[in-house]
Amino acid sequence: MTPVGTGARILERLRRAANGPPGRWLLLLLPGGLALLGGAAAEAVGLLEGRGGFPWYGAGLWAAGLLLAWRFRRGRAAQALLLLALFERLGAIAEPSGAAVGGTGNLIYAALGIAVPFTLALWALLPEGRLFSQRTAWNLAVLLLEAALVGFLCRFPELRAERWFSTRWVAWDPPASLPLGQPALLAWGLSLAVLGALFLRRRGAVDAGYLWSALAVLAALSRGGPGPAATLYVSAGVLALGVSVVEASYAMAYRDDLTGLPGRRALGEALRALPGAYTVAMVDVDHFKDFNDRFGHDAGDQVLRLVAARLARVGGGGKAFRYGGEEFALLFPGAPLERAEPHLEVLRRAVAASTFTVRGPHRPRKKPSRSTAVSAARIRESVTVSIGAASAGAGASNPEEVLKAADRALYRAKAQGRNRVCI
Ligand code: GH3
Ligand code: MG
Ligand code: MG
Repeated sequence: MTPVGTGARILERLRRAANGPPGRWLLLLLPGGLALLGGAAAEAVGLLEGRGGFPWYGAGLWAAGLLLAWRFRRGRAAQALLLLALFERLGAIAEPSGAAVGGTGNLIYAALGIAVPFTLALWALLPEGRLFSQRTAWNLAVLLLEAALVGFLCRFPELRAERWFSTRWVAWDPPASLPLGQPALLAWGLSLAVLGALFLRRRGAVDAGYLWSALAVLAALSRGGPGPAATLYVSAGVLALGVSVVEASYAMAYRDDLTGLPGRRALGEALRALPGAYTVAMVDVDHFKDFNDRFGHDAGDQVLRLVAARLARVGGGGKAFRYGGEEFALLFPGAPLERAEPHLEVLRRAVAASTFTVRGPHRPRKKPSRSTAVSAARIRESVTVSIGAASAGAGASNPEEVLKAADRALYRAKAQGRNRVCI
């Protein structure tokens, strides 16, 4: 493939990823990635010289994040905020030239390098509770245990715990800019893998916040001690967590849980914000009640998810929404009807040509090793959709009228025998 072809393919992939059901990559990048990169840029151009950051804007951000976590019942985000604050404060006193001088300071600093990734990964795996709940209290008890352990190691220097933190399993040293021993590097590797996998699986905003706050602490550690740069990185982590709480709450209100598509409320807002021409298409799964009756509601849910994933990949700049039940809406901003219609036709055919494989109602608890047994527990079925489309302009000036016109077109598609596009 030519470089231009490859470039076009990458661009198309990026567009799809940003448009796809959960906008996964965008969610990952904003705001945590941006805050962290901004921090790095500020450091690179020397904006930080002579500034003691965290006590000012860091504390403000932190308080705002904690307030949001409490308000939106995100215990997990609150825990991570507490961890970041502890890291920042302990890092400041633990530095060899700080309050806890010499061996103790080094020991605390080395312990932080392992405790932070371990704690973040553990909390990400444990179920979420409210800020003031027993579950959150138990999770916070992990911190007390860790503090007690480090206190114990500091109290008995003859144990020479610093040796453990600097164990070398392989003859390789990390770059001088990352003053971590091999055990800490292993902990970071595992923790980032767990956090990354959890984000990919759950696609939650707070999971993205956890990933970015872990990277923020790692960036702060890589500064080799406390200072404006380390402080700025921790603040970026705090910001990522705070905004992730807002993002998660927004997602709860605007995203459909089953399909991951934005819901009806999001469609309403998108329509209100649109200037000029646009096309709306209503998409309804044909005879879906029969499907549910034959294969069960769970199988029906899986088909809705698969259909939603297919709709999310519609061409022509279309954006998919779950309107309700087995009804979806597609919005083509800036596109008149005749420009959107071919994409609707392609979509209708693609859905009709797909065979959706879903798990049947009586599936075995464990996945059998033989594929014949698997297929017995699976349903391979195809479904079709009927589509009705209308655009703003011809007879319909406000969004409600356009939606109604699209609905009437959908009704015609059903009346004419289904599995078709009507405009
Ligand atoms: P038509 O071709 O006229 O659209 O027929 P239909 O059976 O699809 O239409 P109808 O409106 O009679 O039935 C829609 C069915 O969709 C009824 C309801 O049980 C099912 N349904 C709605 N929401 C969900 C859902 O979230 N999950 C599942 N599994 N089924 C749903
Ligand atoms: Mg239907
Ligand atoms: Mg319907």
